[in-house]
Amino acid sequence: MDRTNRAAVLNETHDPTARSLVQSANDDAAFPIQNLPFGVFRENLGARSRIGIAIGNCVLDLSAIWRKGLLSDLADLVPAILAPNLHKLMERGQQDTSRIRHRLFKLLRDTNPAPRLVLDCLLPVNEVEMLLPCPIGNFTDFFTSIHHARRTGELARPGNPLFPNFKSLPVAYHGRASSVVVSGTPCIRPRGQLGAPEGQSRYQPSRRVDFELELGCFIHSGNRLGSPISMDAVEEFVFGVCLVNDWSARDIQRWESQPLGPFLAKSFMTSISPWVVTLEALAPFRIPPAQREPDDPPLAKELCADWHNATGGIDISFEVLLSTREMRSRAMEARPITRTAFREQYWSLFQMIVHHTSNGCNLQAGDLIASGTISGADPRESGCLLELTQGGQPSVELPTGEKRGYLEDGDCVTFEAICQRDGFRSIGLGSVTGRVAPRSGE
Ligand code: MN
Repeated sequence: MDRTNRAAVLNETHDPTARSLVQSANDDAAFPIQNLPFGVFRENLGARSRIGIAIGNCVLDLSAIWRKGLLSDLADLVPAILAPNLHKLMERGQQDTSRIRHRLFKLLRDTNPAPRLVLDCLLPVNEVEMLLPCPIGNFTDFFTSIHHARRTGELARPGNPLFPNFKSLPVAYHGRASSVVVSGTPCIRPRGQLGAPEGQSRYQPSRRVDFELELGCFIHSGNRLGSPISMDAVEEFVFGVCLVNDWSARDIQRWESQPLGPFLAKSFMTSISPWVVTLEALAPFRIPPAQREPDDPPLAKELCADWHNATGGIDISFEVLLSTREMRSRAMEARPITRTAFREQYWSLFQMIVHHTSNGCNLQAGDLIASGTISGADPRESGCLLELTQGGQPSVELPTGEKRGYLEDGDCVTFEAICQRDGFRSIGLGSVTGRVAPRSGE
């Protein structure tokens, strides 16, 4: 029954002393040689999209590396490496992703005797356009932070914040895949019915646009319909993680969501960061999952595993930055408005996937699973404005003297994330950013 926890095992690609022949990678907080996240880019509008790897402030063009003959031992992976996006690679198994990682690690290391061949395949990241990693398959959004559940629940149902199922299973809804966009896409203020229990209903621009700080996970290979994924196998189904901003319109949500849950309050847009950090890169940052509380109900055995007790969690720290139009006009930097971490999440990424397939539902390569808002125990560690401002009171103060309850037009929201552990090189997830824009003509 016991299996080796392969994805959390350290190997040479985690060596903290390894340095890259790409100088910027050796000082970079997010993309040193120990990270090597996958992404999709193009050089200009109309150019063909290609797969790249982030290294320092550059993108390594995998098609160019192949043309130089540097991936000849990976010939069976050529259709995936030369594809216009990551879907073909996601369809394959974790061992294939790992083979590419190990090969690129050797090529990018400062011990490579022929650095020029590799340096010729680099592009400055600020000179390319980053695209979605793959066509988004299905998008499922969970609700797995107990602190988020408690604080938002307290606003909606004072004295009785948690639903009775919260500690038994990770709750989720099926989201909209077509409106998942890459970082940088403007968030057009949604319009909808804001609630009119007595008056005439009408459609108006939302006045309560919020962000939700979440971790996303892309699925590797997938499972057959009718064949649930077990805890023992689940790590093989995680391709990697990214940042997710699940933009939310709280006024639309409040009115529409009874009894069937989120719909148009969420589907107007969801932003993701362009780089997918593989589960292998995250190995040094695996930690035990959050402790359950002493009087919590016993966990279903389908959601338990010995390995999970040791490494079911992932230690990722997040920061949310806000910049208003006024701040930018006065050349002020974006200001951090909250910091939080994934380590307190009540349900792990692995439990979310196992529960998702427990009824036989098939996950597919390229499906995106998101964690739900990530909030810490302290209210200042809240992953959305609904919590931070206790329902929209203008309490987030900015250096211009401006105050925010919810987002105003021109507000730019950026998430950043980093993994750190003593004795290891830090790696980052990069960032996801988006600016709230008025609807044209409004
Ligand atoms: Mn959400």
